[in-house]
Amino acid sequence: MGKKTGFMEYERMELRERDPKERLNDWEEFSFSFTDQEARIQSARCMDCGTPFCHIGMEINGSASGCPIHNLIPEWNDLVYRGKWKEALDRLLKTNNFPEFTGRICPAPCEGSCTLGITDPPVAIKSIERKIIDKGFEMGWITPRIPTRRTGKRVAIIGSGPAGLAAADILNQMGHSVTVYEKDEQPGGLLMYGIPNMKLDKRIVQRRVRLLEDEGISFVTNTEVGEQISTEEIQRNFDSVIIATGAQKQRDLRIEGRDASGVIFAMDYLSSTTKQRMNSNTDREINLHDKHVIVIGGGDTGADCVATAIRQGCRSVVQFGKHPKPPFARPDHTPWPADPDIFTVDYAHREAEAVFGTDPRQYLIQTKKILKDERGHVKGVLTVDTKKIVTEKGVYFEQIRGTEKIWPADCVLIAIGFEGTYTRLLKQFGVDSENNLAKIASGKYGTNVEGIFAAGDVRRGQSLVVWAIREGREVAEEVDQYLKEKTELG
Ligand code: FAD
Repeated sequence: MGKKTGFMEYERMELRERDPKERLNDWEEFSFSFTDQEARIQSARCMDCGTPFCHIGMEINGSASGCPIHNLIPEWNDLVYRGKWKEALDRLLKTNNFPEFTGRICPAPCEGSCTLGITDPPVAIKSIERKIIDKGFEMGWITPRIPTRRTGKRVAIIGSGPAGLAAADILNQMGHSVTVYEKDEQPGGLLMYGIPNMKLDKRIVQRRVRLLEDEGISFVTNTEVGEQISTEEIQRNFDSVIIATGAQKQRDLRIEGRDASGVIFAMDYLSSTTKQRMNSNTDREINLHDKHVIVIGGGDTGADCVATAIRQGCRSVVQFGKHPKPPFARPDHTPWPADPDIFTVDYAHREAEAVFGTDPRQYLIQTKKILKDERGHVKGVLTVDTKKIVTEKGVYFEQIRGTEKIWPADCVLIAIGFEGTYTRLLKQFGVDSENNLAKIASGKYGTNVEGIFAAGDVRRGQSLVVWAIREGREVAEEVDQYLKEKTELG
């Protein structure tokens, strides 16, 4: 433990953010890493509490408590306090393949479990993590680790999101030859084309992909497995296959007027914006300059749409936080935007306040109808206020009569979550699915088809980057075991 009295002496510090008005003129990251001294002081707040719940990591009712990848948080806090940065980095990389991602965009369930958090603001674990890895890259300590021996076994990974990349990293280090197939132009999955640049700079994703390439992993991009290359060919050419294709099937809004032009899925909007910025081949840019924008959905994706629309110069932006029907409603004690321990008021809302002088968030609202003009384009959204009713049978939201309101809109972005994966590829492989996800026994990654595994959001449903990394790490262990057993038997 670095400093016994640190938690009593120092206050928690948040990352400094760029001035919202200034940062809206570009797409660069909105926050700065800690300085060395700031990180040292913040790490001194770690109490070394004996039972570090931050590092244990459990799943309770589907939510993460503590770090899902069991980061050795008290150990690296102590090393940072003592100025042993390189050792702190080594300790961090023992459990986390990509701290440069989680240090920026993880909702940090570790901080929600920090013992200091019982009485005081928790240790700023995520920001310290970001500092350790950023410093590691700055100092040139992170160099390609090229495996010294090869096993001769070949593994195909389909999908290059955090789950696919983590699995590829571990299997490559074990000596297996790994090829990652990606249907998009650049690897990274939602890290590349979902999460906007101001939260996670795309150069950071590209830097990691280059490192993995230098270490021997092959990336085959612009290639949709099941389309450009058949599943039979994949099975013929590889000893094992990991499906890590995510869960990007968006939940739709089934109300009158949904077919109006100008009503767009959030992911189509976000990915088109990033692709446009990166000069990729995208058939159309969705530019909301001078438009009245309504975002339906109160999660991370919705907030990212708000921040993106503001950067494009939208005329106004409103975000509705209540989905049209239960069970998608948020609980009453956390009406906005979600569980406050996990998602707080986001960067996008601070930006909207800076530009328009008002909070864009509207909640306890039900969207009833999308209004169209004579060309069939959206011209407004009809809503009604709701109140929460709790009964013995459950919770529902009742419309309040006389509260109907029309909101002018040139564009409506639907950000009400995801319904699992597109199951076509699973079917082509003969893999069983359930609720639009790969069907796999709990705690396992092997599917019903021998040699084919699945991990990440395609297995667990839309989740978090840190869970995808964990699944990538665990599936790699299972695949390695499978390959060893196959060799022994063969
Ligand atoms: P994905 O990242 O979805 O990657 C799957 C990849 O597979 C994609 O690149 C896809 O193109 C590819 N693919 C699919 N089918 C094929 C095929 N047939 N052939 C070849 N390639 C294929 N999580 C956080 O922790 N923090 C956040 O701040 C956060 N923000 C988010 C913001 C948005 C807008 C969204 C949508 C999600 C966010 N998430 C966030 C969730 C997080 O991004 C996901 O949980 C995570 O990326 C899942 O990783 P994955 O590897 O399972 O799949």
